[in-house]
Amino acid sequence: MRDNWIRRLLKTPARWLYTLQLSTHRLFQQKVLRTAPVYSLTGSCNGCGKCCEEPSIAIGGLLHVSSTLRFFFVLWQRHINGFHLTHYDTKHKVLSFTCTHYNTLTKACDSYHSRPAMCRDYPTIVLDTDAPNLFPECSYTLTLNSAKTLAALIDEDTTLTPEQRQKLKQNLSLEPSDTSPSK
Ligand code: SF4
Ligand code: SF4
Repeated sequence: MRDNWIRRLLKTPARWLYTLQLSTHRLFQQKVLRTAPVYSLTGSCNGCGKCCEEPSIAIGGLLHVSSTLRFFFVLWQRHINGFHLTHYDTKHKVLSFTCTHYNTLTKACDSYHSRPAMCRDYPTIVLDTDAPNLFPECSYTLTLNSAKTLAALIDEDTTLTPEQRQKLKQNLSLEPSDTSPSK
């Protein structure tokens, strides 16, 4: 169901708050803890819609221990974001939903311009997880940052021919081999 003006209005400050929280967290990780992301993302969205089929939210400890807070959080998700709770994975503290804005036929969002910040941030958010993973349908690619550095060093090695560089990178799985099946 498309967002009306009330939902659009309520979603705006929530989006700002989420973005501010996420930016602060990432800045803290980089500048204070000096932890660089292990992976980087490349590519662009092919619009497969997979990430809209079952939007999931990893919740903090407070929401996990307090069923009252969780109740209001889920209520907000249902009535403002249009997310209906389907499952709560208590072990990993992840809430899974179906989204009423997602059209399974067209694979489009009926309220794209007022979609929540978590939808806008996907798939960057996977870089913040312990074991980054993408849907097989997703056209983005996760690359190990150390692999990127190694590939750059090989590219700079003038003692190798272009063919030898390519072969070496393929052998080290730094780039797809010629025989890889295309998507
Ligand atoms: S609000 Fe839109 S972008 Fe977000 S999960 Fe639903 S359909 Fe996808
Ligand atoms: S899964 Fe990846 S490619 Fe598919 S819609 Fe989401 S971001 Fe785009």
